[in-house]
Amino acid sequence: MRIVSLKKLSKRQCALIREGQSEAAGAWMACRDLHRKAREENGPWPGRDAYHRITKGGRFSLHSQSIQQVFRAFDAAVAAARENRRNGRKEIRYPYKDKRFFPLMWPAQAMALEEKRIVLPMGRGRSSLVFRRPAWLTEKCACKVVWNGVYNELHISLKETDSASERKEATERHATVDLAQIHQAAVVTNTGEALVISGRGIRSLKRLHSKQLGKIQKKRSRCRKGSRRWRKLGRTRAKLTLCANRRIRDLRHKGTRRIVNFCKDHGIEAVFIGNPDAVRRNRCGRRHNQRMSQWEYGKDIDYLQQKSEKDRIECFIGDERGTSSRCPACGHRHKPKGRYWRCPKCGFQGHRDVVGGVNMHPLAFNQVVAFPERITYLRPGLLRVRRSSSPDTGRPPLTSGGSCLAKSRNQAPQRIRPLRVPSGNSPQAASHG
Ligand SMILES: [Zn+2]
Repeated sequence: MRIVSLKKLSKRQCALIREGQSEAAGAWMACRDLHRKAREENGPWPGRDAYHRITKGGRFSLHSQSIQQVFRAFDAAVAAARENRRNGRKEIRYPYKDKRFFPLMWPAQAMALEEKRIVLPMGRGRSSLVFRRPAWLTEKCACKVVWNGVYNELHISLKETDSASERKEATERHATVDLAQIHQAAVVTNTGEALVISGRGIRSLKRLHSKQLGKIQKKRSRCRKGSRRWRKLGRTRAKLTLCANRRIRDLRHKGTRRIVNFCKDHGIEAVFIGNPDAVRRNRCGRRHNQRMSQWEYGKDIDYLQQKSEKDRIECFIGDERGTSSRCPACGHRHKPKGRYWRCPKCGFQGHRDVVGGVNMHPLAFNQVVAFPERITYLRPGLLRVRRSSSPDTGRPPLTSGGSCLAKSRNQAPQRIRPLRVPSGNSPQAASHG
């Protein structure tokens, strides 16, 4: 998916988008009401045909294909909630919220491409949305117009050109990935290599963002609701959130790209990812719970799957329960404290997340592997941008992470410390997949 900024739109187009997004929210709520009614009356649940019937015929001023995309999204949301509830997560609710806006969506066939323009229809009798066509857009693609909290963005889903890859059944070289928080991931191969990607950057960005939100909330609580200052603080909050989310997404992509590159460099054919679902749902204290709920391992899994598919590495997910608490040498169970695993029984010592990865090998591939001798530690990418170092302190003045909006934009990114990178692999090469 590629994201195009729609920052500088005319007022007319902005109003058109806003109106359309509000109509789309109306269509969503019509589907929600139908679905809720069926549930309350214990009747048969509506399918796509039923949603189609209640939304068609000019009830909503949108292009018919856009409306279809809305109820397809609704149907997918219901299916996902149903699946989760079946798997025992009863706290998941079916769609119930009132929406004021919903993204405007078009399937590929609804998009019209002209030489320099993208034309997106808004329905009969209404003017279409027209955007400048990016040079890389060569064929019609599904797309949506999404409000990111500060301005609109156009999300274009590009088709994969070659996804057909032959799968080998038995693989010789494989790896396991243990997702964690302090370290984004630890990869252990059965060839005696390991890679640990630090997650401290992501964690600190999240901590910073939480603190910023707290500060703004405190100020906002002293304002009258709807006042000019209240609105202004709301806008600042949206900007900070957008900035934080982007920085975190960037690091996530870079970190997972490093993992997949590492696998590729070592000729790995299959990757097993441990799903840390059970860990996350443990409740242990306010601070820990905040950290856990901010841990987006689902995204890591998604990114890893996408990137490994692109590089023709087989990828599968399974339960990782208990892998991080067993000693890889003697099998003794013990909950580690800190980042280091020390076995009270046999004296084994090793990196905690790597231990988890080693223990996953018997579960995933029926093979016991030795604790890796060489561990590579990498950061996913740059966290801060540095100005030229000041002579008096010797330490470089760092631009603060919070006021990243305007200050650091014009400075060329530099490396803070040389990163330990596997040979022939520059950090700049770790690009977004
Ligand atoms: Zn032991």
